[in-house]
Amino acid sequence: MVNLVRYNIAKLSGKATYHLAKRGPGSGGTYPGHVFTKIGGYDSVSKLASELKTGAVLITGTNGKTTTTTLLIKLMSNDVDFRYSYENNILNSIVTSLLTQKGDLGIFEYGIRNLTYGIPDTVERLINPIGVVYTTISQEHAQVAGVKNPFEDYYKAKKLLSQAMTRGAIITNADDPRTAFIGIEKSKDVNINYYGIEAEGIEDSNAETIECPKCGEKLIFLKHFLNHRGYYQCNCGFKRPEPNLKLVNAKFGVNKWILTIKGEVFNYIASKKIRIDLKLKVPPFGFHNIYNTLASITAYATFTPKSERIETTIKKVFNNLDMSFIPPGRFEVVNIGGKYVGLGQGDNGDALKINAMCMKPYVEGPLEFIYTTPDEKEDEIFKDHFNVIKSMNPKHIIVVPGRKSTRKAEEYFEIIKKEFDNVDFYPLSYDKLDERIDKLTELAHESDYKYVIMSGCGEEQAMWEKIKIKLKE
Ligand SMILES: [Zn+2]
Repeated sequence: MVNLVRYNIAKLSGKATYHLAKRGPGSGGTYPGHVFTKIGGYDSVSKLASELKTGAVLITGTNGKTTTTTLLIKLMSNDVDFRYSYENNILNSIVTSLLTQKGDLGIFEYGIRNLTYGIPDTVERLINPIGVVYTTISQEHAQVAGVKNPFEDYYKAKKLLSQAMTRGAIITNADDPRTAFIGIEKSKDVNINYYGIEAEGIEDSNAETIECPKCGEKLIFLKHFLNHRGYYQCNCGFKRPEPNLKLVNAKFGVNKWILTIKGEVFNYIASKKIRIDLKLKVPPFGFHNIYNTLASITAYATFTPKSERIETTIKKVFNNLDMSFIPPGRFEVVNIGGKYVGLGQGDNGDALKINAMCMKPYVEGPLEFIYTTPDEKEDEIFKDHFNVIKSMNPKHIIVVPGRKSTRKAEEYFEIIKKEFDNVDFYPLSYDKLDERIDKLTELAHESDYKYVIMSGCGEEQAMWEKIKIKLKE
């Protein structure tokens, strides 16, 4: 039982803190939520979340969470009042939004690093979501704060967020064996809306296989779209489920992409299936954003109360989309006087691969790769990164520490030098962030190459966004 006096004091204190605190990106920050939780305890969070008459939708995944949440917010804004938070993706950020915003629906990004640093099952219990949206699940950080964090635990943490759900719907990627398996396992308890790709001509040639999430054997891939996303099956009977919403055709122009999206999605609010058949004109936003588009449209079609207007709203949002929906610091190709510099955060193997794919269509000559390295104990990330660097076949490589350890960055540089002749190392200090930003900007600006990609590890907003702004000046 929640003590009502304590609950009300917690609510008043949290709200008072909110009015004193400055608003952070994507929400009112996290401090009011912190104050509320501290005074009222977890039971009060649960009571606060139950004020959402419709319920909460949580968005999680390794990459694409913030973009998917942003797109879902754009779509839902046409239909209903809701409370939301993104970018600050911890429980206190959700609590802050619950405290300070209005609406019967909640749309919250929630990130989980691992079981030690995240509390996915607790969050599930307290927020009692009607929806969990999965974007991707891949190897993010081999270790967090020096603690070995095997992928098994990370995957388990993602699963735990929806494991106890007994109502609502899960929106998940059919092309990713790991997220698809979460759907298959939960299909007896809740509705599952899968999204995926069934279009020709967008296959990924050098990709990896992974272990079957059901039996542990290596999966057989018939088609790869992006790393381990594709058509797969296993001798144990596990295979890709049929997507409810799919991309069936894509035309990639220089200025516009035309995406044909079809399917039948279960709308949880009206408890009925909705047919969707759309042709969208979007900016050339990169292949990974096709998945973010599909995830956000599927989530929207599942939870909007305005099911009769679904297609009109989706067209309105996507046909008017410009690149500003991409979160600050993320990869973007900037044209500076005829020189193409692609830059932005790519601090795991998947993210860097996606950046390389975005850059490739621009490259028509020798390429320079300015690579910002991972830290100590992140050899697995480096291994994934190095594969991406090799796939781009750069003429010149500049290696810069992307994290704290200059010594480790030099070690990564030595490994790269064994396979490439033309490599330079700049031991820029992590602590002198402004100097590092200036030097990286200068390196891109003064480069002898017409095509430059600058990516790897580094803080999204503190570093990448600042370099981007400087380059555009
Ligand atoms: Zn299997």
